[in-house]
Amino acid sequence: MQFSIVHSDKRTSARRGILKTHHSEIHTPVFMPIGTQGAVKTIDPEVLTKLDAQIILGNTYHLYIRPSHELIHKAGSLHSFMNWDKSILTDSGGFQIFSLARLNKISDEGVEFQSHLDGSRHFFTPEVSMNIQRHLGSDIIMAFDECPPGQSNEKTVEKAVERTSLWMGQCYEYLEKNDPLFDWQQTLFPIVQGSVYESLRKRSAEELMSFAKCGMAIGGLAVGEEKNAMFDTVEQMDGLLPKDQPRYLMGVGRPTDLVISVQLGVDMFDCVLPTRNARNGQLFTSQGIVNIGNNRHRESFETIDPDCACYTCQNFTRAYLRHLFNIKEVLGLRLATIHNLTYYMALMEKMRSTITGGDFESWSNGFLSQMTEHKGM
Ligand SMILES: [Zn+2]
Repeated sequence: MQFSIVHSDKRTSARRGILKTHHSEIHTPVFMPIGTQGAVKTIDPEVLTKLDAQIILGNTYHLYIRPSHELIHKAGSLHSFMNWDKSILTDSGGFQIFSLARLNKISDEGVEFQSHLDGSRHFFTPEVSMNIQRHLGSDIIMAFDECPPGQSNEKTVEKAVERTSLWMGQCYEYLEKNDPLFDWQQTLFPIVQGSVYESLRKRSAEELMSFAKCGMAIGGLAVGEEKNAMFDTVEQMDGLLPKDQPRYLMGVGRPTDLVISVQLGVDMFDCVLPTRNARNGQLFTSQGIVNIGNNRHRESFETIDPDCACYTCQNFTRAYLRHLFNIKEVLGLRLATIHNLTYYMALMEKMRSTITGGDFESWSNGFLSQMTEHKGM
C-alpha cells in the first residue's frame, strides 16, 4: 500500500492524497461507508460504485459471529463473498466486544465475552483478531486495542494504553510470522488510545509509531467525551502522527465533525450516521437536517435537497419519501440511504477540490458557520 500527498493546504493542516491498495485508488480525505455484516444496509455494490465509494468498512466481530471468517475465506475473501471489488478495511472486533457483547473478563491475554446473539462464549486475543482479518482478506487490518468508555478515569485509560501497546506488538508479530492467505497486501494500522488525556495520548502515539508502515488510527474518541476535548485531541495528534502516512479518525462523525477534522489533518473517516440515520428518516442536506417523517412534508412535492444530484433527489419528492416511511416500505430506507451517502461523498469531494483549489480554509469556515444553527449537522 502506498500513500502520497497531492496537495497540502497552506493555512490549515488539511491535505489531499491518494492511497493505493491492491483493489483501488482512494482519494483522501475519504469517507468509508459501513458494511457491518458484509453489506452496506439496503445498498448494493453497483450503487456504491456509482457513489464513487473506493473503500468500505467491515466489522470483524459481526463477521466472525455470522457467517464466520472460515466461510468467507472459502468464498474467496470478503471482496468476492459480497461482490465488492474495491478496498475493504476491517476493524479489530474490539469495539463491538466492548460495546455490544456481554463482557466477561479482560486481561493482558485477551477478552472473554459472550455473543450478543446466543450468549455463546468466545475469547479474543490479538492473534485471534489478526487471524480473522487475515481470512477476510481486508486491505487494511486494524490492530486489536482496548477502547475504554469516554468518561473513564486516568488510571483506567492508562491501563488501556499499556494493553494496547502490548497487543500491538503481538498483532505485528503474528502477521510477520504467518504467510498471507491472498495475493494482495494487508496493511496493519495501529490505533492510538489515551482518551482525552494529553500525556497518555502522547505516550500511546510514541509507543505505536514504529509499527505504522502506512497509516495510523486515532481511536477512543466519539465514545462519550466532550466534543471540544475530542478536537483538542485530534489537534494534538496532528502534531504527533507521521505527516507522510494517512490518519484515520475512527467512528467520526457528523458533517461538521468531518470538516473540522480535515482542517486538523485527518484523512480517513467512517461512521454509521449517514446510513443509520437514513433508516430513521433523518436526512443530511445542504439546508441542514430534514426529518422526513415530519408532518410538514406531507404535501411537500419538492425535492429533498435542491443541491443534491443523487438518484433520490432527482426522481422523488419529500411527500413520497415521507409516505414510504409512513408505511414502512423498504424502498424508503434505500432511497434515504442513497441520499445520505451521496451527501457525505459530495462533502468529501468538495473538501478535496477546495484543498487543491487553495480555498479550503474559507470554504470550510463558511460551511461551519452556516451549519452551526442546524443541530445534528
Ligand atoms: Zn439527494
